[in-house]
Amino acid sequence: MTDRVIAIAEGRHTKPLPGVGALGAPGTVTDTRGRQIRDLRISVTDRCNFRCTYCMPKEVFGPDYEFLARSQLLSFEEITRLAHAFKRHGVEKVRLTGGEPLLRKDLEGLIAMLAEIPDLDLTLTTNGSILAKKAVALKAAGLKRITVSLDSLDDGVFRAMNDVDFPVSKVLEGIDAAADAGLGPIKINMVVKRGVNEDSIVPMARHFKDSGHIVRFIEFMDVGATNGWRMDAVMPSADVIRAIDAELPLVQIDPNYRGEVAARWRYRDGSGEIGVISSVTQAFCRECTRVRLSTDGLLYTCLFATQGYDLRALLRAGASDTDLAAAIGAIWSVRADRYSEIRTADTAALRKVEMSYIGG
Ligand code: SAM
Repeated sequence: MTDRVIAIAEGRHTKPLPGVGALGAPGTVTDTRGRQIRDLRISVTDRCNFRCTYCMPKEVFGPDYEFLARSQLLSFEEITRLAHAFKRHGVEKVRLTGGEPLLRKDLEGLIAMLAEIPDLDLTLTTNGSILAKKAVALKAAGLKRITVSLDSLDDGVFRAMNDVDFPVSKVLEGIDAAADAGLGPIKINMVVKRGVNEDSIVPMARHFKDSGHIVRFIEFMDVGATNGWRMDAVMPSADVIRAIDAELPLVQIDPNYRGEVAARWRYRDGSGEIGVISSVTQAFCRECTRVRLSTDGLLYTCLFATQGYDLRALLRAGASDTDLAAAIGAIWSVRADRYSEIRTADTAALRKVEMSYIGG
């Protein structure tokens, strides 16, 4: 683990906006590798009530850590204007994330504003801690689906991983409430760390097998610069599949759409499906159509980036909707990212932005 992280407020590393070309027809902009923009992730807060050891370790994100001030956050109006501009470039899906998005005050208000954008798949990723209270209001505001993170059903393992002694039972209550509110099919994200929660893989698969929810097993990634990532702590998805298949036979199925990051498997007895996300062992950069907006309005074209483009500065300097769309198009057209294809021990040590800030 590194000794001290540079707080986000001090470490806003930006790169200059590229020259703006012609805007082009909606949905036509491609990057230098021919990829389009389809999926926008918006981090609505850099704060979280968990201290997952692989994401916001307590030693770094402790009581003295300087989170963003309110004035630095994008307002709901600013986020909505940008979402419209992304839509003009063909974005089909918006995922609200963070930090813990349900901690952002009046998040339902933002959801209601985004839900007015036609033909947008609007979803959210949460740790589930306050989902039981919020599920009905989220659905009523216009949220379509939800993903809940849960790293183990073993209470001791889960409490140790979230590092704030939070019980499994409360997250399960949140999942049930979300299902009852109509936010399904629910996806459940489990980050697998070798030597930490690998014994939880099969019980997790078995628990949700007949539920209609889809568990996705995620390889531990070298996001950010503070989570002490090591290759030997990564459990390759191939091993996850082998472990589940030995007890609950599986067969691979086709992706739902081109660029889907999770490889899909279904149970041979027809009782549901799971996914694996293998950013480390099977890079999917070639088909990556994602872009990320940080809590304070920097645009990142890769989860493993070290610098972002300052869209908040444009917004606050009075840019028109056309200016915003043109800037986004220009940024995307010079994008060349392919971090997971070129990852080495050296790149893993780069000062990449933290996932809590850029949005998971
Ligand atoms: N607080 C919300 C939550 O817990 O789902 C949203 C933000 S969280 C950063 C989004 C997702 O990223 C979670 O599923 C989390 O487990 C995953 N994540 C965080 N750090 C990770 C890492 N180093 N490797 C793989 N996944 C990670």
